Amino acid sequence: VSATDLVKRAFDRIEETDDKLQAFLALNKEAALKRAAEIDKAGVADDQLLAGIPLAVKDNILTKGLTTTAASKILENFNPVYDATVVEKIKQAGAINVGKTNLDEFAMGSSTENSAFKTTHNPWNLTRVPGGSSGGSAAAVAAGDVLGAFGTDTGGSIRMPASFNGIVGMKPTYGRVSRWGVIAFGSSFDQVGWLTKSVKDNAILMQAISGLDKHDMTSANKEVPNWAASLDNASVKGLRIAVPEEYVSDKLDPDVREVVEAALKHYESLGATIDTVKMPHTKYGVPAYYILASSEASSNLQRYDGIRYGFRAKDVKNLDDVYVRSRTEGFGEEVKRRIMLGTFSLSAGFYDAYFNKAAKVRRLMANDFFNVLKDHDVIMGATGATTAFEIGSEVDDPTKMYFNDTLTVPVNMAGLPAMSIPAGFSKKDGMPVGLQIIGKQFDEQTLYNTAYVFE
Ligand code: GLN
Repeated sequence: VSATDLVKRAFDRIEETDDKLQAFLALNKEAALKRAAEIDKAGVADDQLLAGIPLAVKDNILTKGLTTTAASKILENFNPVYDATVVEKIKQAGAINVGKTNLDEFAMGSSTENSAFKTTHNPWNLTRVPGGSSGGSAAAVAAGDVLGAFGTDTGGSIRMPASFNGIVGMKPTYGRVSRWGVIAFGSSFDQVGWLTKSVKDNAILMQAISGLDKHDMTSANKEVPNWAASLDNASVKGLRIAVPEEYVSDKLDPDVREVVEAALKHYESLGATIDTVKMPHTKYGVPAYYILASSEASSNLQRYDGIRYGFRAKDVKNLDDVYVRSRTEGFGEEVKRRIMLGTFSLSAGFYDAYFNKAAKVRRLMANDFFNVLKDHDVIMGATGATTAFEIGSEVDDPTKMYFNDTLTVPVNMAGLPAMSIPAGFSKKDGMPVGLQIIGKQFDEQTLYNTAYVFE
């Protein structure tokens, strides 16, 4: 097939599905077809790992000449003057960006209902959420619009949508992939991640975008191997799996737990050993994460002042009015909630009681992981306690929404790599259930091997 065929097919499929799904905020049709024609004409270079492959990009990742809004009114019509490093890298690899996908505003949310522009629907059941915040990317992959899509994962935003949509999602080790050009939320947690239908596709995307970037001081100087190459010989014989009680507990919906437990049994039957362990700080993850991530967000979001980017309130009286009214009108409710929570936690009188305490919890949680991973290769459990919930059922109850992230935020506290892979379907509602696999720092290879044998 030609690149032009692939790209045309992607746009046909988007046309067919997106009225219902609302996964895309912007399409890149003209430029994508032009690029495809160029690739078809020039032929594929040896280093073009993704030549002609249509992909989609979450709308909090900068794309030169194509609007990037973070699903916020405050960035409506914002047109970046440069590409994020990941976007530059996929372009170099020959991939074609077909469009920008919907998300919770500034990636704050777990359902993609916090977008200022539209609500994305789950392709398995249109009345359900796709998860969030990378819900547009997940729905686009699950619906077959594109072969892969990029997102970000600050507290679960790749893994939870992967779980809710029955696809493969990778959040790599913190530092593996450059954050240059990714709109900052909680900078010490944020990582670019990606969603695909198959494990092998997922590994190939990772190879195309990983590596040191001089623009991002936290990007790691690590070799970028060909993770896909050894997958066909992968085996889990002798793999030491730790299963934290908290990740398979009776707090999970019984139908979800059943699927996860069956997946664990399957690994045992393939020769892996399973140890039940305790990670007692898991329950503090959500409160600590929401303090820390909101604190970082309150600082990162200072730059949206009505002057530098995007939206500015009309009929303003003076400079203060520009700031106050642009921010009041430009930010949505959830974003304002985080800014207030973050500013409060960082304020002189409350710093020790909140920010500092949460930072200590973060250290304890990271230690839990490092201890367990001393004598285990991977940690496994559920990605979420439920399947995709109904649109509208939780969005007015922020704390309830936050607790959806109980099993995903701990990983971001420790900067570890983690995947969600499709484990099966709920007997109760027929919706997909994800299995979470967590690995050692920079050991994505073991994650991919482990995921691949399950497929
Ligand atoms: N749901 C979490 C939050 O709202 C995680 C979001 C994310 O990973 N971007 O903060």
